[in-house]
Order: sequence, then C-alpha cells, then structure tokens
Amino acid sequence: MKASFYNCDKTFTLGACTPVEPTAGDVRVRVAYCGLCGTDLHVYHGHMDSRVGCERIIGHEMSGTVEAVASDVNDISVGDRIVVRPLDPCRECPACRSGNSHICHNLRFLGLDADGALQQNWTVPRHTVHRLPPGVSLKHAALVEPTAVACHDVKRSRLEAGEDALVIGAGPIGILIAMVARQRGAKVCLSEINPRRLEIARSLGFDTINSAVEDTDGVIRDRTGGKGADVIFEVSGSQAGVDCMTAAAAARCRIVMVAIHAEKPRIDLFQFFWREIELLGARVYDEEDFDTAIALIASGAIDCETVITNVQQLDRVGETLADLSRNPSALKSLIQVSEEAA
Ligand SMILES: [Zn+2]
Ligand SMILES: [Zn+2]
Repeated sequence: MKASFYNCDKTFTLGACTPVEPTAGDVRVRVAYCGLCGTDLHVYHGHMDSRVGCERIIGHEMSGTVEAVASDVNDISVGDRIVVRPLDPCRECPACRSGNSHICHNLRFLGLDADGALQQNWTVPRHTVHRLPPGVSLKHAALVEPTAVACHDVKRSRLEAGEDALVIGAGPIGILIAMVARQRGAKVCLSEINPRRLEIARSLGFDTINSAVEDTDGVIRDRTGGKGADVIFEVSGSQAGVDCMTAAAAARCRIVMVAIHAEKPRIDLFQFFWREIELLGARVYDEEDFDTAIALIASGAIDCETVITNVQQLDRVGETLADLSRNPSALKSLIQVSEEAA
C-alpha cells in the first residue's frame, strides 16, 4: 500500500508502507479521502518538526471503509463506512478524569503524534471510529472533522436562536461555524479581507463585511441597532481580529477563541470589565460534537460541495499544501487517498 511521508523541508514523498494488522481493540480502515487544513500547513512550514519528526504520515480529516477488525471488536464490521475522531487520550490525567479527555494533558493526536490518514490502510483504536449513515458520501464525510470543530465552537458559545453572531475570518472553519450557527437559528455575519472568500460567504447567503475597507464594529453596531454581536468567533488569528472582537461585542457577549494565536496579541481587557464580556477557549471536539457533525452533514445543513474546492491525488500532498499557502482564497482541499470501493 502507499503512503505520503512528511520528510521535513516542505517535502512529502510517496512511498510503500506495510498495513498494520489490527491487534486488541483496533480497526483497519481503507482511507478514501483526507482533507488538509491549517494544522497541516504548520507541519509543511516546519513549525512542528520537533513534534512530528521527519518521517511522519500526517492527515486527520478523513473518511474511509473498514477492511479488518481485531477479534475483540464486535460492534464494527468490515465494509462499514466510517470517519475517525483522531484523539487518543491517556484516560488517567485530571482532564480525562473530569470528563474532558479531548483536552487530555497527554493527548496523542493521530496524524501529528502518531501516523495519520495519508496512507491507504490506516489502523486506529476502535474508540476513535464513528459510523456514517447511508446517504453521506465519503467525499463529503471528509468534512466531518472540521465540522466537529465548528460544532464544538458553537456549543462553547451557548448560542441561542435569534442571537447576532459575528464570525471573524471566512476560511473553512469560519464558514463551517457560520453554517452551524445559522442552523441553530442565529443571525450570522462573516467578516473577511479576502475577496474570493467574501464571495463564497455571500453565495452561501451570509451577511458579510469586507474588513479590508469597512469598519467591522461600526457596521455590526449599525446592523444591530447599536447593540453589537451577542456571540463572536475569532477565527482570523490576527491582531486586527482581536481588536475587532472587543470592539464589536454586545454587553455580556460571549467570545470564542477558535484561532491559534502563536504570538500573544494585545487585548482590550477594559472592555471585558465594562461590558461583562466572557472569553471562552475552544479546542478540537468531543464524541458528541462528532455525532452532531455527522448528523448535520447528513441533513444537508452543511453545503459540502461549496466548501470542498479542490481534490488531488496522494502524490500531490506537498504541491497542494504549497498551493494552499500561496492561495488562501481556496477553501478546503482534499486528497483522494484510495479509489472508492465499488
Ligand atoms: Zn484539521
Ligand atoms: Zn488524559
């Protein structure tokens, strides 16, 4: 079987790889599709070399079909169409013991800390596997993982129907958050500087603000009768986004920090006092978020065809990541890892 190996220095090599026989509690999956995301871009740029090493198979946004199970796995069968929630927690640390194993202190993230889905046959623990309902294509199912991120972010925000939500940044995660928030009955506005992404957001029926030329918080206040946004998702990872999140906040706004700010931004903490704002962190997802994401995709609430802008083959991982880093106007790129089983 074939796999794409990350060899550091922005290099991916297609190579042979022996399928791992499933031992106790494991399942082996024929991977169909694997999405690439901002985390994979960080790997590509070498920011995570000390964590992932120089012979790692990355990839964590996948779909596929079960092709073998260990003898002690009796609730998943060969031929089941599945997605993998790529988290392997220790189950012993304080976070795990308090029911928050998704933020385990010793979390093993499959596709970074262990080999991931950019291989044709991937062996994973049974507890990571979620079965797909009929009617969800394997191509669309590759969006379950990023949609689960969006479901977790919206859950953290305690968003209610009728509230005004502002999403700062209309990349794949921002767009998915907007779709989940709209499905919850919120009035959603996306702010973005990239014209192509603004166009995609508008084509999906969202209110948008071009924050390159418009004053986002002024527009939000105009559109909400001076109130501001009840819930704000910071997905841009920029200082401008952080400035906007406090400026556009309504009284008692809940702000969810979705973006990974590698450098410490300056934050207007006075506004947290003045308007009783809450700031909530959100990282990955739990089991429930994965099930919610699958149900949303099955229901058609997520427009997968608009989000997936590009599908490439397994020998094109490096080129696809290079394109993504040059051309941020694309949304989600998938790698087709194996031909779909007939
Ligand atoms: Zn990802
Ligand atoms: Zn743990």
